[in-house]
Amino acid sequence: MGKRFIFSKVLMFIVLITIIVAPPINQRKVSAETTDFYDISSSYWASTEINYLSSLSIIGGYEDLKGYFFAPEKTLTRAEAAKMVMSAKKEKPALLSKTRFPDVSEKHWAAGWIEKAVQLNIFDGNPDGTFAPDESLTRGQMTKILVKAFGLTVENQQNEPFVDVYINDEFRPYISTLYQLGIASGYGDRFNSKQNIKRSEFAVFLTRTLNPSYRKKPATSNQSTQKTIPAASTKTARVTTDVLNVRSGPSTNDEVIGQLSLGSVVNIYSLNGNWAEIFYKNGVGYISTSYISTYSGTSEFTQTTNNALKNQVIVLDAGHGGKDPGTTENGMYEKDITLNVIELLEKKVKAAGAKVILTRNSDTFPTLDERVKIANQNGADIFVSVHVNSGSSSATGTETFYDSSKNPQSEEGKKLAAEIQKQIVSLLKMKDRGVKNERYQVITYTKMPSVLVELGFVTNSEDAKKLADQRELYAEAIYNGILAYYNKK
Ligand SMILES: [Zn+2]
Repeated sequence: MGKRFIFSKVLMFIVLITIIVAPPINQRKVSAETTDFYDISSSYWASTEINYLSSLSIIGGYEDLKGYFFAPEKTLTRAEAAKMVMSAKKEKPALLSKTRFPDVSEKHWAAGWIEKAVQLNIFDGNPDGTFAPDESLTRGQMTKILVKAFGLTVENQQNEPFVDVYINDEFRPYISTLYQLGIASGYGDRFNSKQNIKRSEFAVFLTRTLNPSYRKKPATSNQSTQKTIPAASTKTARVTTDVLNVRSGPSTNDEVIGQLSLGSVVNIYSLNGNWAEIFYKNGVGYISTSYISTYSGTSEFTQTTNNALKNQVIVLDAGHGGKDPGTTENGMYEKDITLNVIELLEKKVKAAGAKVILTRNSDTFPTLDERVKIANQNGADIFVSVHVNSGSSSATGTETFYDSSKNPQSEEGKKLAAEIQKQIVSLLKMKDRGVKNERYQVITYTKMPSVLVELGFVTNSEDAKKLADQRELYAEAIYNGILAYYNKK
């Protein structure tokens, strides 16, 4: 038997196996009249895109006794994605007798598609050398694949609005690109990179990639710094500095007609550059937008009025977590209060244009050393840790710590602590226990201005009520403190 004979036998074997084992998915050739899947009604959110790709034979469905169906809610496997992307690029499967991945046999229905996608440098294998063809594709992986497959580019790969996409996220440039091009969106302010992508979602994003007329322009651009608020809808803001001048016009050359104190609430009539027009003493006055923040969570407004935090890297640390509940009293766990306040704070800081890194975003327990590393390794500009106190039932109030023993930025840390302390005391009417110099691991061994805030005493009935009901206000107070600190730099 010559080599040629063996080769032709192997080839026949592959062809035969492909016919036998290939699932119906992605295999059906459809004509324009028969693109409808029985599980995709015309009102289904992705029906237009699914039918578009089906009419181009880029996607197929499954078949059962009732006919063809698409299974839009099913997650997409990596093998399916490889075939869809290769089909969309009008590529043919690579011919191969031996695959490069130990977990992709030559008999795998998508082996040729996977090989082609890897040859074109569109898909990577895993670091351990496997490909995991039947595992689900994540939303993060999807962004990288679409960007690489179709050579998508944008000017600024840092521009994206998602609170869960961190500055060092490997998918961030790809998420930013797809977001700006109107191809991929998130879920509100989150992108959920690690979530498996559904077949429907992938169909929509692939359609928008191929045909720009399907794209959806991002709702808000966080590049905008001078968005005008319609006169009809007034916004409420809070003063974040000790004394804020109110002027007769939108410039520092205009006459000072009055002053507002820390924590004052004002109605904003309109924005004019860096000046806000406010209702003041039955007339109109102007205040600098650098010293006001939003009131009651209108984050879009925060974002457009304060530039001091732009591009700052801020590490937020929710104390305790996981196996370590912290202090517990009256059914309240310190770890839950701190996480909740940190999440509310994260939104505000991110909306102001900073890059936020959380030491934890769920009920987990990073060690103190790990928290320090997260801050140091990401080159954080400031570090804010949130805790809750306990003591006798009469002990009450807020205290904020910085460290001067080892922290090289302790003078700055002290200033930051003072601003945050002042805001919490003012907004939540807390007893002022003061700013204190103390060794706590997370503020001692971090290398940037670092503070640890004890919001109040869970063991005191008045403090406990605020800790239960006023978390949004705590977050706002800390945010205002950070803002005030930056504005004085
Ligand atoms: Zn604690």
